[in-house]
Amino acid sequence: MAHIVIIGAGIGGMPAAYEMRERLPKEHRVTVVSAVDYFQFVPSNPWIAVGWRQREDIVLQVGPLLAKKGIEFIAQAVTAIDAPGNRLTLANGDALAYDYLVITTGPKLSFDEVPGAGPASHGGGGHTHSVCSVDHAQAFWADYQEFLKNPGPIVVGAMPMASCFGPAYEFAFIVDADLRKRKLRNKVPMTFVTSEPYIGHLGLGGVGDSKSMLESEMRGHDIKWITNARTTRVEAGKLFTTQLDDQGQVLKEHEVPFKLAMMLPAFKGVDAVAAVPELCNPRGFVIIDEHQRSKKYRNIFSAGVCVAIPPVETTPVPTGAPKTGYMIETMVTAIVHNIAADLSGQPADARATWNAICLADMGDTGAAFVALPQIPPRNVNWFKKGKWVHLAKIAFEKYFMRKMKTGNSEPIYEKYVLKALGIVRLAE
Ligand SMILES: Cc1cc2nc3c(=O)[nH]c(=O)nc-3n(C[C@H](O)[C@H](O)[C@H](O)COP(=O)(O)OP(=O)(O)OC[C@H]3O[C@@H](n4cnc5c(N)ncnc54)[C@H](O)[C@@H]3O)c2cc1C
Repeated sequence: MAHIVIIGAGIGGMPAAYEMRERLPKEHRVTVVSAVDYFQFVPSNPWIAVGWRQREDIVLQVGPLLAKKGIEFIAQAVTAIDAPGNRLTLANGDALAYDYLVITTGPKLSFDEVPGAGPASHGGGGHTHSVCSVDHAQAFWADYQEFLKNPGPIVVGAMPMASCFGPAYEFAFIVDADLRKRKLRNKVPMTFVTSEPYIGHLGLGGVGDSKSMLESEMRGHDIKWITNARTTRVEAGKLFTTQLDDQGQVLKEHEVPFKLAMMLPAFKGVDAVAAVPELCNPRGFVIIDEHQRSKKYRNIFSAGVCVAIPPVETTPVPTGAPKTGYMIETMVTAIVHNIAADLSGQPADARATWNAICLADMGDTGAAFVALPQIPPRNVNWFKKGKWVHLAKIAFEKYFMRKMKTGNSEPIYEKYVLKALGIVRLAE
């Protein structure tokens, strides 16, 4: 009998638990340990921030859902991992032994890298918001309602070392759409400040025609932008950013005024994971081989935002490569295959495709991209805009929430529809 422990109950952890339970014989135990007792559908947080969704629409209590499938759940943060000893220490002081460990702890939101940035309640200086968690999105919504009574300039964007740019664009367009509906857009100058070298880079070196399409959308929506932006500090109502040129030399210093700001922070690995000797790169992301397996500790696997992926290319202001939902699910499927193979004495050689598919809502329309594989040159490099994306994003939310409620992580129709489009989870 083996005990498989999964840390994290997010977009990676929940499917990992369900898929593991489904695939492994019943004699093996599966336990999920997570810092909070709920799952949140992170892609819908931007809608929470403008009041288009309520918390209960996108949050699920995971204990009862996992219990129905025979998966144990512990709602405690992991504070230390003794990798050579195969043991975790939890926040309440308990110890938990494992045979295999799956790390899906997502990002540490590293607000403190830019003085004055980030919600004060999350270790930041308090002058900018985030939509990375449901709590942060609710905090934006509270301030946004006050802002609407007396609007002013808004700043949206991403800090140096951010690795998730789609949600920043998405949020800028959602706020724009919301303000237009309220007939207040004329009172709100908007500036998009990003560490990307150009609009539409997305941490991916661009996808298809993303540069010109997104630039055109920003112009069409009266959103000004500053790229290659190394934001250095934030004060109440002022964001200080140094714009670099393509050679990394200073081009211009900007002091951008705002009444409300949402800046995605730098991402790092969470402390308990980053502290394990030789498990992670210097920013605390888990170093894995092509089978999602730690190079140092062969019974540790990892998926999601917490894994180390090299940037697609070097950029004047450092940016990271995004890890999107479907890509994370492909990583999870590979891990489940590999642990099952290891347990039955077979070679653990499954490889995830890491196919990047993303739907970004723009309020009333949207933009979708498919990058197969993620690192160019690609077999599929596709970026399209249309109202259908807005509808598809709503469908994606309902569909994923249903998958998490029913515990079926890859329903058969998903498998065959995506396969028909040439999108599969495991590499041949
Ligand atoms: C605002 C936003 C919007 C996004 N929108 C999209 C989108 O539309 N489409 C898309 O494909 N991707 C999107 N992404 C990217 C990606 O899908 C998400 O970031 C996704 O949530 C990542 O999943 P994850 O499992 O790696 O981390 P998370 O979903 O963040 O889960 C991490 C889990 O680990 C737990 N945890 C953390 N530390 C500990 C600890 N020490 N002990 C125990 N538990 C711990 C947390 O409680 C949580 O349960 C978006 C990302 C952001 C930030």
